Amino acid sequence: MAIPGVAIRGQRSLLRQIREALAGGGPAQQRLDMVVRIIARSMVAEVCSLYMRGASNDLELFATEGLDPTAVHVTRLKPGEGLVGEIMRLGRPLNLSDAPNHPAFSYRPETGEDPFHAFMGVPLLRGGRAIGVLVVQNRTERVYNDDEVEDLQIVAMVLAEMVAGSELASEGALKNVDLVPHRPERLKGAKFADGLALGVVVLHEPPVATSKLLSDDVAAEEIRLATAIASLQAQIDEMLEGQHGLVEASYEVLDTYRMFAHDRGWNRSLEDAVRNGLTAEAAVERVRSEHRARLGQARDPYLRERLHDLEDLNDRLLRHLSGDGHKARDLPPDAILIARNLGPADLLEYDRTKLKGLLLEEGSAASHAAIVARALDIPCVGRLAGLRDKVSEGDPVIVDAETGEAYLRPRPDVIKALRARLEVRQQRQAEFAKLRDTPAFTRDGHKITLLMNAGLDVDLDILGETGAEGIGLFRTEFQFMVAEEMPRFNAQTALYGRVMDAAGDMAVTFRTLDLGGDKVLPYLEAEREDNPALGWRAIRMGLDRPALLRLQLRALIAAARGRPLRIMFPLVANVDEFRAARALVDHEIAWAQRRGRAAPSRLEVGAMIEAPSLIWHLDALLPMTDFVSVGTNDLMQYLFAADRGNPRVADRYDFLSPPALRALQQIQQACAETGTPVSVCGEMAGRPLEAFVLVALGFDRLSMPPAGIGPVKQMVLACDREAARRGVSALIKSSAGSIRNEIETLARKISAI
Ligand code: PEP
Ligand code: MG
Repeated sequence: MAIPGVAIRGQRSLLRQIREALAGGGPAQQRLDMVVRIIARSMVAEVCSLYMRGASNDLELFATEGLDPTAVHVTRLKPGEGLVGEIMRLGRPLNLSDAPNHPAFSYRPETGEDPFHAFMGVPLLRGGRAIGVLVVQNRTERVYNDDEVEDLQIVAMVLAEMVAGSELASEGALKNVDLVPHRPERLKGAKFADGLALGVVVLHEPPVATSKLLSDDVAAEEIRLATAIASLQAQIDEMLEGQHGLVEASYEVLDTYRMFAHDRGWNRSLEDAVRNGLTAEAAVERVRSEHRARLGQARDPYLRERLHDLEDLNDRLLRHLSGDGHKARDLPPDAILIARNLGPADLLEYDRTKLKGLLLEEGSAASHAAIVARALDIPCVGRLAGLRDKVSEGDPVIVDAETGEAYLRPRPDVIKALRARLEVRQQRQAEFAKLRDTPAFTRDGHKITLLMNAGLDVDLDILGETGAEGIGLFRTEFQFMVAEEMPRFNAQTALYGRVMDAAGDMAVTFRTLDLGGDKVLPYLEAEREDNPALGWRAIRMGLDRPALLRLQLRALIAAARGRPLRIMFPLVANVDEFRAARALVDHEIAWAQRRGRAAPSRLEVGAMIEAPSLIWHLDALLPMTDFVSVGTNDLMQYLFAADRGNPRVADRYDFLSPPALRALQQIQQACAETGTPVSVCGEMAGRPLEAFVLVALGFDRLSMPPAGIGPVKQMVLACDREAARRGVSALIKSSAGSIRNEIETLARKISAI
């Protein structure tokens, strides 16, 4: 490929010939035979062979030019077996001058390949998944040059798409080939947001349409690519220079992006692919497929993280190419979104009325993406290993977030059973709706106040429907997470005003910004930390950067316009932090008054109890506060030293265990003794069995995701608090690591659940 012009013409005409051969008439086998012949001739190779992955994952020789034709459909290799199996396993090319000397070489006499020394094989990748292997061989020892490897990779990519996308796929010859996943499959994952849904797959990162693989005009395509790369680079540079919003960009993350975006290797791979006849979009997919295949297997978290950056960069580049970076995607009416993982804000880019469910390959139940899913009442199952490679856009799929499973391409009987369960669920929802105006009293007459957690505009629409008596936790950082830029004073004031208007006479507890940890903002400077959950987050950031916190307090006071105001500080770890935060509130009230603005008619300032340290200093803290709220999500994370966002450990320890419940009991008792109002606003308050325990421990204010209110109210109405208290008091003396089963038995015995 010394003369680029000739190479391009050669490559493009090769791709065209392959396309014509595949599209032509005649039996499928004949067409594949022709394809390998064309490739062999074009690459000046004595052998060209195509292996395809069968349903059992074996690789079968499908067509060959140069090897013994009787080996076709006879020679089979396991993944990892022989050089071809090795390519399949690694998902990347092998280029050898003397193949028989390679340790993975496996001799198959039926193929008659002993005289061939030079060997180059590349995987046929679709969406990062190898569906076959394409090999060329030559008799004499030689190393194929980089251009030749690149050429064969492009041919392999186009071939993969053409074979999978053409009518060949449905023909007898390819019927056992695992081109696209097609069998029903059930995957076991973890339940992130309760519910059931049936719909069709929508990929968060959709693959490029096969119809747009080959460009008609290379020069024009090169310009499109160069323009898109330049605008991507400019965008990232601009973000890095902190021109978005009031504060500097998150340097570390963006700097990595910048490094990749300007990386010559990445740019050159894209340019080469376009020069060889691919569209810019197809070039992005080709390079992405290779990175995925290469880095996806990496165990090293650093490398996996880099893959994540690259994925993001590829997505950004595709958006620049399509020129509609911010346009919301058009969804089918029953969309089930599939992603490896999602940031908390990603979900909000989709049309809520059409998004029926969410399936994630990774993630954790306590992550903020899962919290947003619960807030939006979108059933979500996560930690579904290998999910992304097992589905295609448009596949029917079931989200069973009652059991934590996903059914891919479910059989009719499974769909029928699901429909029946959906009906039961709807009946249950109707029962909860009937309870909406019934106050939540236990059977023995204790009032339990059920409140809603919120954080988004959409939450306000459903406040009335849930029967919640107020908003016990308004996560103000959500507004920041969904914004492109730092929301300014007016935008903050407007949102808080809308929340108070929607709540009317009901109280709203505004939690000040809880950023950091897994809640990172692209426009807010955050240093990379080894332990973000233990790092510079929430009130720590607020006190160190008081301008941001004061602006927010000012917006809250302005929005209250003389109405009552409740403010709560997150992750207070010692009393001095609370004192300092409270002083900022007083300062802002005085500031407003000096300007003749109305102070809130009643001001209550509270602390979240999320850091275990406070449990042993409640005697000092409680007298300073007007109320406290227990953030069990974080409290449990710190109590058990288990990162709530890390799937390996997030669910390792049970809330319903003596240490956790004793901690909660101690907090409740200290609050009762000092007469400090206390609520629980972690996710556990929205689960009937956990809520049962909280009621038993004496908590009478529970704030939860909207979907929890109906089921928890039903539990409260059926519960005898005194009996529950006696039972739970005895159980928390247990020496067991978890007392979930015992508590469940107790709750059933007294008919609470
Ligand atoms: C908590 O930690 O329990 C809590 C309610 O806050 P968040 O989940 O937003 O951290
Ligand atoms: Mg918290």
